[in-house]
Amino acid sequence: MSSALVSYSDALALLGEQIAQFALETPPVERVDLAACAGRVLAESVIADRDHPPFPRSTRDGYACRAAEAMTHAFLPVAGSIRAGDPPAGPLPPGSVWEIMTGAAVPEGADAVAMIEHMEANGERVRLSHARFIEAGENIIPRGGEALEGDELVPAGNRLAAPQIAIAASCGHATLPVHGRPRVAILTTGDELVGVDSAPGPGQIRNSNAPMLAAMVSAAGAKPMILPRAEDNPEALDVSLQLAAFAEMLLISGGVSAGRFDLVEDALTRAGAKFHFTGVRIQPGKPVVFGHLSRTHNSALRVQPFLGLPGNPISSAVTFLLFAAPVMAALGAAGEPTPRFALARLARDCKGRTGLTRFVPGRCQFHAGPHEIPSVSPVGWQGSGDLAAFARSNCFIVVPDDVDRLHAGETVRILIA
Ligand code: AMP
Ligand code: MG
Repeated sequence: MSSALVSYSDALALLGEQIAQFALETPPVERVDLAACAGRVLAESVIADRDHPPFPRSTRDGYACRAAEAMTHAFLPVAGSIRAGDPPAGPLPPGSVWEIMTGAAVPEGADAVAMIEHMEANGERVRLSHARFIEAGENIIPRGGEALEGDELVPAGNRLAAPQIAIAASCGHATLPVHGRPRVAILTTGDELVGVDSAPGPGQIRNSNAPMLAAMVSAAGAKPMILPRAEDNPEALDVSLQLAAFAEMLLISGGVSAGRFDLVEDALTRAGAKFHFTGVRIQPGKPVVFGHLSRTHNSALRVQPFLGLPGNPISSAVTFLLFAAPVMAALGAAGEPTPRFALARLARDCKGRTGLTRFVPGRCQFHAGPHEIPSVSPVGWQGSGDLAAFARSNCFIVVPDDVDRLHAGETVRILIA
């Protein structure tokens, strides 16, 4: 194992190279109620069950007509009426129109729908206003104009959100087959940690990373499995690493820095880990380690990627977003692809550190006015353990490694939490 630090961009490249091997060969599939499918990964393509639309559909309230006849601007008798839900009907007699509603089947013989607002009525007859024109095809979606029966509408492997749920519903799917969420074991380490529901003794702190990381794993579209916290000794870590064998991925918090009780890398080495990087030139989060273990679970051999995240909460959060969430995506988790960046205007100066890419907790005003770009300010923090500052933030301001100060007014990149 090498202790050389890699740059942020090299770390991303190393991660990118390794990620493909983590994809599961046969990811599990489960059926989920359609309305609960948001944020899941589709296991089988959604196929059009019939032509969409299944009949030539009017997109307007108005009059189904022959465009050439309407263009004479002569009064034409209203020979019939059809509304959405009525069975397709017709034909349209020559020299006449039919009243039609949005979503209704255009009667056979009609080739356009004139908008009601463009027509003038005279008793039972209507005509196209002189200032208006109409062409064949106007305001009609032909049968199959959106999709043909048998077309693939949502390919397997797509992440499901509202638009995909809507088309699946229109094809008659009350449930959909989706991939099971990859299980991510969360192992927090540290003798100083007590449970969230315990009163910390002198020198102790509550284990805030376990629930924080569980929330981040869920948001990434994977399934968090919180393991019992491990003490900082080799035996405890060996047992915990063994306990984590069932999971598709392992997240470890703490114990990866250079201190005397930072024993996680040694424990991983004893478990046969292969490391892809051990430390990245970023701040916070420098000690982060990434690698994989070869695991035998239920007598099958498989590769289990792991991230060892530094224990300081903000370091854990940044390294999760940068490195852990993309691994989950490769395993089939359905969260937004990460890391996600955006541009914002810096409202106050933000310091950099030459040689380190910095991720400074910031608060971005995303609800900017109609012509403004969002503005972002550093929240002011006492370092990567400052949970109070973290709680005031909603993003991280990215300070490149060759910049010693970002100035107010500059457009900067932000990492969205
Ligand atoms: P470590 O990475 O183990 O050296 O921990 C760095 C700092 O993060 C120490 O001050 C720890 O107390 C703190 N820390 C470690 N694990 C957690 C955790 N699970 N929740 C909150 N703080 C933690
Ligand atoms: Mg520790």
